[in-house]
Amino acid sequence: MSAAVPVPAPPPVDPATAGEMAREAAAWCALHGLVVGDRADPRSATVPGVGLVHAPFSLLPAHLPESIWRQACELATIFNELVDRVSLDGKFLQDSLSKTRQVDDFTSRLLEIHRKMMEINKEENIRLGLHRSDYMLDLETNSLLQIELNTISTSFPGLGSLVSDLHRSLINQYVHLLSLEPKRVPGNAASSKFAEALARAWAEFNVDSAVVMMIVQPEERNMYDQYWLTNHLKESYGITTIRKTLSQVEAEGQVLPDGTLVVDGKKVAVVYYRAGYTPNDYPSEAEWSARLLIEQSCAVKCPSISYHLVGTKKIQQELAKPNVLERFLENKEEIAKLRKCFAGLWSLDDEEIVKTAIEKPELFVLKPQREGGGNNIYGLDLRETLTRLQKEGGDALAAYILMQRIFPKASLAYLVRGGICHEGLVISELGIYGAYLRNKDKVVINEQSGYLMRTKVSSSDEGGVAAGFAVLDSLYLT
Ligand code: ADP
Ligand code: MG
Ligand code: MG
Repeated sequence: MSAAVPVPAPPPVDPATAGEMAREAAAWCALHGLVVGDRADPRSATVPGVGLVHAPFSLLPAHLPESIWRQACELATIFNELVDRVSLDGKFLQDSLSKTRQVDDFTSRLLEIHRKMMEINKEENIRLGLHRSDYMLDLETNSLLQIELNTISTSFPGLGSLVSDLHRSLINQYVHLLSLEPKRVPGNAASSKFAEALARAWAEFNVDSAVVMMIVQPEERNMYDQYWLTNHLKESYGITTIRKTLSQVEAEGQVLPDGTLVVDGKKVAVVYYRAGYTPNDYPSEAEWSARLLIEQSCAVKCPSISYHLVGTKKIQQELAKPNVLERFLENKEEIAKLRKCFAGLWSLDDEEIVKTAIEKPELFVLKPQREGGGNNIYGLDLRETLTRLQKEGGDALAAYILMQRIFPKASLAYLVRGGICHEGLVISELGIYGAYLRNKDKVVINEQSGYLMRTKVSSSDEGGVAAGFAVLDSLYLT
């Protein structure tokens, strides 16, 4: 980086006050369900209501220029539409991922299911997407750049929405110390918006006795984020949600001759995946059979196999190539808006860029086709990996994409984890949720649906909250 790094301003309160605020805030979390399972309690990932701890959070909201916020919100509906359009081009998905499949078993298995669906001309009339597009604000160019687009199991609509309430409440309580206005923290309706989208998909499916089935991991410390949606579905719409692992679906599920998915004796209207995005979720053939079974059924899948594939890193990189967006969208202004937020993305068959990345690894991120945080390769590891893969020859490089490293502005903030408040130099990543629901030609929902701000110490490369790198945050518009 050539630009001089500005000295960050100190946080607005001294450490002693921050400690007092952190205690108030942690109590607020416990009272309002801003909680996760505590690692220290072995039952916390399987037994609801046991071993709870407040979710890690930032004491005060992260500052963001209002114009950038507007720009990010505006992109949500365009990305929603893009995902839908790309998902309909099965050949584009298969061709773009053809080299990846040779070297990445997980992608290969997903593509296999996708190919089977293409073979039988499987049509998804009701299509539900609950996406999250993640961004960082690049310091040097002051531009909003997309990190990735998540189309499966986008987490924290439940807990993330609460953080803006927490921050407003703290700002109100400490108004005499902080020169902050609560109204500058935008409201966050992610939780109710996602529940609404699930409910409307259920309504389009139109079988009163049917349930929403949430696909979950056998152990889930982030279950309260999920229960928030379950709760909205029940309280606002009277819809029952069942929680099943993929292996339970394999054991208890069947598809009736008319396509109806029945699990544990219940008809399923909507399958909402909060698992299934990582190879770890498929420890045996049983889980793959379950995924296939669901895909073959007429239940609404959130996401379908094709929506899932559109969210892969490889497709992100393909979409960023010249003239590719034009294949899927007509509106030139919208295309320009999307392109403006694309960072540099390269496939590794570009020898020139591989050479540059080996010379200057600090300017790049090497990404495999994985989700959930903790998988990317940076710095000297990046150089070593590229050098080794290049020597090995063959297609091994096709398992990865290269991305321009984005450097957001670092600032000083207090982060609270496990009841302990730390001051740190931090950077933030803004996620904008999008909900999209379509029934044949009718677009039922295409909306920006709240946001997720995550903040992490700037020395950490990775960003996941569940993965333990980041904390939940909200926004303060400047
Ligand atoms: P995942 O699907 O595992 O979440 P991401 O692409 O979001 O993968 O990468 C994980 C984390 O790595 C991000 O949350 C972010 O903190 C960091 N990261 C990813 N891409 C970049 C990038 N181009 N520049 C800087 N940091 C990045
Ligand atoms: Mg992801
Ligand atoms: Mg991510």
